[in-house]
Amino acid sequence: MSSIERDVVVIGAGASGLTAATELTKAGLTVAVLEARDRVGGRLWTDDIDGATLEIGGQWVSPDQDALIETLADLGLETYSRYRDGINIYLGENGERRTFEGDIFPVAQSTEKEIVALIDRLDALVAEIDPERPWAHPRAKELDEISFRRWLETQTDDEEARKNIGMFIAGAMLTKPAHAFSALQALLMAASAGSFSNLVDADFILDKRVKGGLQQVPLLLAERLGDDVHLNAPVRTLRWDENGVTAIADGVEVHARFAILAVPPVLISRISYEPPLPRRQQQLHQHLSMGFVIKVHAVYETPFWRDLGYSGTAFSPYELVHEAYDNSYDGDPRGTLVGFVSDENADGVFELSPEERKQRILESLSHYYGEQALNPVVYYESDWGSEEWTRGAYAASFDMGGLARYGADLRKPVGPIHFSCSDMAGKGYQHVDGAIRVGRETAAAILAAVVP
Ligand code: FAD
Repeated sequence: MSSIERDVVVIGAGASGLTAATELTKAGLTVAVLEARDRVGGRLWTDDIDGATLEIGGQWVSPDQDALIETLADLGLETYSRYRDGINIYLGENGERRTFEGDIFPVAQSTEKEIVALIDRLDALVAEIDPERPWAHPRAKELDEISFRRWLETQTDDEEARKNIGMFIAGAMLTKPAHAFSALQALLMAASAGSFSNLVDADFILDKRVKGGLQQVPLLLAERLGDDVHLNAPVRTLRWDENGVTAIADGVEVHARFAILAVPPVLISRISYEPPLPRRQQQLHQHLSMGFVIKVHAVYETPFWRDLGYSGTAFSPYELVHEAYDNSYDGDPRGTLVGFVSDENADGVFELSPEERKQRILESLSHYYGEQALNPVVYYESDWGSEEWTRGAYAASFDMGGLARYGADLRKPVGPIHFSCSDMAGKGYQHVDGAIRVGRETAAAILAAVVP
């Protein structure tokens, strides 16, 4: 066991921990980053699968994500636009296939009216929410006591309108069923992206990708930190008192003035604390859980849907794959589709054998794009639920009532221990932008404590 002394020990080499470590180093402090896995990046992971470069984790950058955009510029990384020329596909309840342009799905006129009215109402409510302090909204408690599904039922009797609006936050963002999280949690999700309209606008929210893959961000940050990043070093025990910490990981222990826990909140209790964390933290971490989604890549010899005039963008609240996009990799002449199977649908297909699951998922893609979708040359399912050091996707959210009750204490430091990750962000919540923002803020809080 090697033993080292640093000003700050950062636990977790995801975008958040590495950003915090970078900022602290720039300010002249010494750091050690301890990472459980044999790679950096956490939920950012770009890999070669059977000859195709795939983004197993996060990938898209939207124009409001200025912290991420600044980091990309600082690291010299370039972006390219998601392919979006052509018409989009929507499947109705009976599987009928309709095409559309713009954001509003081709539904009955009465349903369209309800959808537009719901978007307006949500935008108005979201405008009242400060994503950094959603619990401070005058009706926070009331909005946190009603599930998003029930709230939608109080707004409209049109089930297709409810399903479509529900899908944008439930299946597409929090990756939990709409009965499992509150209206306040849904409003935070939308407020963190600027507005509900932004979430509905795929051209906004899924605007750009990074050449070489988004994992370049943590890889390049870690490269700059050099030997201060320790891989295969899961932290098992954190000893702490008002004067400092000792982080005990496999093979290395670090004595430091401060610790940054840059891990998803569901993993905080994986570590033993001596003494235990205070009552409030022990309680509040139990009220956050990971969503669950399977990200599926299917690579084809050609982007055949483009020849048919399709953009590749497809939605249906009635399909196993509720949303799918053209995800062809920059420079690869082949065509790639990415689709998402969320929450209870994901549970359902994991009951099946891998062959049956693949068949069911490809069949769902074929409902959108036709029979050619059944025969990819490369097929890959990201299964973050099986990843010991993540345990779900995309990120964590509070259970009913948890955000109003505990939100304000989520990032409050405990003595020398600070908390940092995308799951605790306001703006950029659940996204890489949020991970970077919180990483910067956590570093600034430590610097303020060191140099009053
Ligand atoms: P993490 O990346 O989870 O990093 C935490 C790190 O801590 C990990 O490396 C983990 O191994 C390590 N760790 C955990 N426990 C310990 C321990 N005890 N000791 C040491 N190390 C430990 N965001 C976007 O902006 N755009 C997208 O398109 C997008 N798509 C996504 C698709 C998928 C499939 C997933 C999974 C996520 C997606 N996200 C997306 C979300 C984004 O990837 C995350 O919000 C962000 O990467 C989280 O960064 P983080 O540093 O906060 O946490």
